[in-house]
Amino acid sequence: MGQLTRSCPHCYTKNVSFTAFGEIQKPNTEVFTTSFYCGGCFGGYVAEVLCYGGPTALGYKGNIENESQYFQIEHEYPVLSKVNSPKYLPENLDKFFLQAANSLNEENLDASSIMSRKVLEVAVKKLAPEANGNLYQRIESLAEAGLITQELRDWAHIIRGDGNEAAHEEEPVSVEFATELLSFSEMFLMYTFTMPGMISSKRHDENIA
Ligand SMILES: [Zn+2]
Repeated sequence: MGQLTRSCPHCYTKNVSFTAFGEIQKPNTEVFTTSFYCGGCFGGYVAEVLCYGGPTALGYKGNIENESQYFQIEHEYPVLSKVNSPKYLPENLDKFFLQAANSLNEENLDASSIMSRKVLEVAVKKLAPEANGNLYQRIESLAEAGLITQELRDWAHIIRGDGNEAAHEEEPVSVEFATELLSFSEMFLMYTFTMPGMISSKRHDENIA
């Protein structure tokens, strides 16, 4: 079964392997509409592949993109949406942020709010892995250690509380609520990961110069 390497439009894993599991030939062409699944989340992906008379993408063993004598990919879908995440995030946080942002775009508001809170939770653990306790206590110890400002601490408690509400409330959340929650978590990430990342890369550049 042929494979492709793509960033997954469902679970947002970067450079994950997709494996072919079905194909249908378009009438009077050498183009095969080929279905693939993500090795991470098993979500579907479709590529229309022109096959030059050799193996088809389904029958081939290995990455079909390395075999330009056999295959040319003509179309593929679904296209990964162009939401950007803040820079210098650890890989898992990047993925969770994209899930929160894409869910908001798709108007999956409850899912987005829950992911925004997860972003905060994972960020806080990453910033102070040795700290103990629940999310409230961890945010407090970040502030005490001077890793976040008092303002950011207050904000973090807002996301913590609101995201928690989204997870337990019976009423669906509003667009405004989900949007605000996402922008809080984005600001938190920018302060705690993006700005320090920018500063250290700037320092690095200057040391080289
Ligand atoms: Zn996936």
